[in-house]
Amino acid sequence: MTAAVRSSSVELRDIHVSFGTLEVLKGVNLKVEKGRTTCIIGPSGSGKSTLLRCVNRLQEPDSGDLLLGGESVISSDPDALRQRVGMVFQHFNLFGHRSVLDNITLPLRSVRKLGKEEAAEIAHARLAEVGLADKAPYRPSALSGGQQQRVAIARALAMEPEVMLFDEATSALDPELVKGVLTLMAGLAERGLTLLVVTHEMGFARGVADEVAFMDDGKIVEQGAPEAIFDAPRSERLQRFLSQVL
Ligand code: ADP
Ligand code: MG
Repeated sequence: MTAAVRSSSVELRDIHVSFGTLEVLKGVNLKVEKGRTTCIIGPSGSGKSTLLRCVNRLQEPDSGDLLLGGESVISSDPDALRQRVGMVFQHFNLFGHRSVLDNITLPLRSVRKLGKEEAAEIAHARLAEVGLADKAPYRPSALSGGQQQRVAIARALAMEPEVMLFDEATSALDPELVKGVLTLMAGLAERGLTLLVVTHEMGFARGVADEVAFMDDGKIVEQGAPEAIFDAPRSERLQRFLSQVL
């Protein structure tokens, strides 16, 4: 059983973030249309993670606006927002001392207030979707990194998010495990979930994204269709970045 997708557009308007005297986001504007995928690329330290964290307000911007489905959510209840905007991290962030099943049911029970049976039913369905139906009773440590990341994706999907954020979701994986996770992410894009994906996987950005945004030094320097970004970069900074990563 595949969960119905109920996706929304998401938009950042003139977002500023500083840490002390260090200005990390210098007025970022970005909109991902409902059901579309945008990949964010750029050098380390350019503000990609901070930007993503602003979208579910793990990081509160100093100024600017955040819209979900066209409505401002910059001063709404952050917990309610996080139910609607799922996030997958580089290091999975699973509960190591709980089973795979518990990792998915606990947030369903505490946040969505579901009963035990209903939560377990949803968890089993989401695990089957990511190809891990048989792993429910195990601890995460018994799984490969790729499998753990797929559990983290199943956990996020179980909340029925309208937008999913991925922050270098494959960067901690052994090379042979990367493809399975990328294929799963591409499937979510295909199903019409709105995705905002920070990645170093240029093949994924080119093949799956509707738009690619290049960040450098706290700003989106260039943005467009993958072909425009990869085949006809305009700015010198993007040309230099691509010459280093491709
Ligand atoms: P990226 O994900 O592109 O590597 P980040 O958003 O993680 O970039 O970081 C951008 C800049 O902000 C870096 O210089 C980083 O050191 C700094 N930074 C990030 N988070 C914090 C924080 N909580 N406190 C202070 N500086 C931070
Ligand atoms: Mg980062």
